[in-house]
Amino acid sequence: MDLKVIFLGTAGSVPTPKRSLPAILIKRKGEQLLFDCGEGVQRQMVIAGASFHKATKVFITHMHGDHVLGLPGLMQTMALHDRDKPLIIYGPLGIRKFVECIRETVQFGLTFPIEIHEVGEAGVVCETPEYVVQAIWANHVTPSLAYALVEKPRPGKFYPEKAKALGVPEGPLWGQLQRGKAAKLPDGRTIKPEDVLGSPRPGRKIVYTGDTRPFEGLAEFAAGADLLIHDATLGDELAERAAEDGHSTPSQAAEMAKKAGVKRLVLTHISARYEDASVLLEQARKIFENTTVAEDFLTVEVPFSSE
Ligand SMILES: [Zn+2]
Ligand SMILES: [Zn+2]
Repeated sequence: MDLKVIFLGTAGSVPTPKRSLPAILIKRKGEQLLFDCGEGVQRQMVIAGASFHKATKVFITHMHGDHVLGLPGLMQTMALHDRDKPLIIYGPLGIRKFVECIRETVQFGLTFPIEIHEVGEAGVVCETPEYVVQAIWANHVTPSLAYALVEKPRPGKFYPEKAKALGVPEGPLWGQLQRGKAAKLPDGRTIKPEDVLGSPRPGRKIVYTGDTRPFEGLAEFAAGADLLIHDATLGDELAERAAEDGHSTPSQAAEMAKKAGVKRLVLTHISARYEDASVLLEQARKIFENTTVAEDFLTVEVPFSSE
């Protein structure tokens, strides 16, 4: 599977014997996208078999310690492994100063460049030929971003019989058409990709709220997502407390999943008071059946919806 989500840390605020601090690793083709970087993330990566060498982008939702204090340790371990690829970090205002301060004061002996992108406004924060990462402001007690990884549509299915019927010789021209590019035939005719391909196939979409109260705009931001990863720090019985602290309850997350029409909901940032999180799961499932409460190292594969 070329798109896999591994929950490296699923606790909220403080670690527990079973839960490490927030960090969600998305493995996509040869790349690693790490959403939040709670303390202890490097050890969780070792256990999960993640790499300190691969192309890696880190997306920080907000500057609370439980979401960023894993960065110094991660940088240190990457240096000790002689990493040479850049580490690319996205986050809200403050992320640059934080990383620069620890670089100035801690003797890292960094072996790789660090690239920092401060995200000042909502929108596309990172774009590659195959996907974009978008951000939107969430509703926490400090400026906090929710992120969406959205793959671009792929060219439709290739029909060899159509290519043959149009007289396209088998070989490089077939490949060109399969990649969505027009092909010029030896006899001068030009064949368009849509002449031999089915309709474009949608990419996949994963949304991570970070710490947040339920907020206007998320339903649209997460619309149709294959996977919504939502804050569910406290149970429904503590809804008032959750609102005060800038968090959500399972029912609120489930309502959002339903409204956004997502395929699957995973709850995370679980308070230390829930040694057994099944009560949270029950609350959410009353509203949205396809819900899971994340545990550390839960792995979710995200397949293409249909061919
Ligand atoms: Zn938090
Ligand atoms: Zn927070």
